[in-house]
Amino acid sequence: MEGCIFCRIARGDAPAYFVYRDSDISVILDIYPVEKGHLLVISNEHYESIHDAPPSIVSKVFRAAAALARIYRVRLRAPGVNVLVNSGRAAGQEVFHFHVHVLPRWRGGGWRTLIHRHRLGEDEAREVLGMLEPHLDVLREYLER
Ligand SMILES: [Zn+2]
Repeated sequence: MEGCIFCRIARGDAPAYFVYRDSDISVILDIYPVEKGHLLVISNEHYESIHDAPPSIVSKVFRAAAALARIYRVRLRAPGVNVLVNSGRAAGQEVFHFHVHVLPRWRGGGWRTLIHRHRLGEDEAREVLGMLEPHLDVLREYLER
């Protein structure tokens, strides 16, 4: 879709840090993370939100989100993780292209800290990609099932 930042990222026309990509979905770093390791799982095709995407794509996006949650909780020992979808402006959706937030919680704080976002820096991005790299077998396993 014209002017949609996630479409441009999925097409390779806008920069992003990619954790994973295949023909249906991409996993990228949120450019305004709430905490270190804040990820977005996006459909490569444009759907406005979860209610517009076909069930097969919803399923694949959520399987990826579950795998990433497992990597954070089980492999990387994060004490918590949020998996979130915002559908509609009233729910806080800002980019109208279906995406799921996977948000590791290293310190706790729950909902209270959801709005404290910072700009992702190059060093932080490299650190997160390096942290996830050895564990992407979990993601591939979930997507193959
Ligand atoms: Zn789009």
